[in-house]
Amino acid sequence: MSDPYLRFAQSGFGRFVTSRLGLPRPARLRRHRPGQPALAGPVLTGGSGRLDAVLKAHATGGDAPYGGLVFDATGIDNPEQLRGLHAFFSPVIRKLGPCGRVVVLGTPPEELTSVPAVVAQRSLEGFVRSVAKELRAGSTAQLVYVSEGAEPNVESTLRFLLSAKSAYVSGQVIRVGAAEVVEPLDWEHPLADRVALVTGASRGIGAAIAEVLARDGAHVVCLDIAAQGSELSEVANRVGGSAVQMDITSPDAPAKLVEYFQLRHEGVDIVVHNAGITRDKTLAKMTEAQWDAVLSVNLASQLRVNDGLLKAGALRRNGRIVGVSSIAGIAGNVGQTNYATSKAGVIGMVRSLAPELASRGSTINAVAPGFIETKMTAAVPLFIRQAGRLMNSMSQGGLPVDVAETIAWYANPASAGVNGNVVRVCGQSLLGA
Ligand code: NAD
Repeated sequence: MSDPYLRFAQSGFGRFVTSRLGLPRPARLRRHRPGQPALAGPVLTGGSGRLDAVLKAHATGGDAPYGGLVFDATGIDNPEQLRGLHAFFSPVIRKLGPCGRVVVLGTPPEELTSVPAVVAQRSLEGFVRSVAKELRAGSTAQLVYVSEGAEPNVESTLRFLLSAKSAYVSGQVIRVGAAEVVEPLDWEHPLADRVALVTGASRGIGAAIAEVLARDGAHVVCLDIAAQGSELSEVANRVGGSAVQMDITSPDAPAKLVEYFQLRHEGVDIVVHNAGITRDKTLAKMTEAQWDAVLSVNLASQLRVNDGLLKAGALRRNGRIVGVSSIAGIAGNVGQTNYATSKAGVIGMVRSLAPELASRGSTINAVAPGFIETKMTAAVPLFIRQAGRLMNSMSQGGLPVDVAETIAWYANPASAGVNGNVVRVCGQSLLGA
């Protein structure tokens, strides 16, 4: 599962060779470690608009190299004013330290009526995605559209983006809307007293999700098929959670889960639909069974479980549903018509259920991972695997924990305004960009 090119390129000799030959030079990404500062340097802020108070709270003061550059672009209401981006960033962008963070805050264009304002705010996407591609050394750039009135709701998102937790998230556009936000009493353990269900939790990304949600204070119910029973118990024990052996596609799975959570926990707060399978074949060679298996695990089961939990009122207020999609669901992929159909369907599920979840004081979002180092990707043929690792702005694959940290941000009670989003955890993959 380890990347030999990454190990080589990060060695002393490898650094010399890759720079001489102009080969990709993947940086060592800074990831969250308890007790360490969120960023390696101070945060410099610029711009002006509705988020002045937020900016003041995050500006730390101090000299370069900077850990983060944050720009409030909500005051920009015509294209001429976009030069404010150049004026702020151009002199300081080279002073951003390794694994630094760029965040631009804007107003959702769809909520504006004046043509120049819509144009100016939409332009921010092109700016941020290009900055993300220019940045080196493991740095990232994101655009956060904050609805009018949702200014206080952006805190959990900024804390995530301005930290090592978002190591493999770059070039993303995130929307934060109005909602009743509950600030956690303790930002180190925002999920204290919350109960989470993670499907496919015995290994890979699911095991990492269970670990991170438990680290943040949740009691995690880890679910997987019986064949994964011993690995599942190991994960559940490690995170101080519970194990449930269940095939998520079985017809009675939704009813059994409703009963389980209502009897033991009086409901569930966080549901992460992570279980997924691949049965890759080009369409002409794909059997009906391969099609059905993938659609059933990756999509139909998620819909049925959501339906069961929502109808029974088992998802508590300020609840969270998170779907695990894939960049294949955005870009498509050869040999994956079944998989990409299912993963695009997950995005449809998020979009269509977001209003209903909001009306219940809850949210539904998805992550779309790119190339993540797991058993699933270890099975990919070597050449395609290496290409998958390199075809992104970070020139390396992500780790399961990168997906898990993104899900933990969605799960945070303070993320009530983060609803209907699909955030790629792909190091700004070129696929589907
Ligand atoms: P994995 O194969 O290591 O783990 C998937 C888990 O789901 C396994 O433990 C499996 O037993 C479980 N599972 C499968 N069918 C199930 C069922 N019917 N009921 C209950 N559990 C079931 O995969 P992973 O790489 O950790 O991927 C996790 C999720 O992330 C999947 O949805 C996958 O499609 C998605 N994803 C992964 C990548 C990647 O690069 N690894 C990229 C994009 C998306």
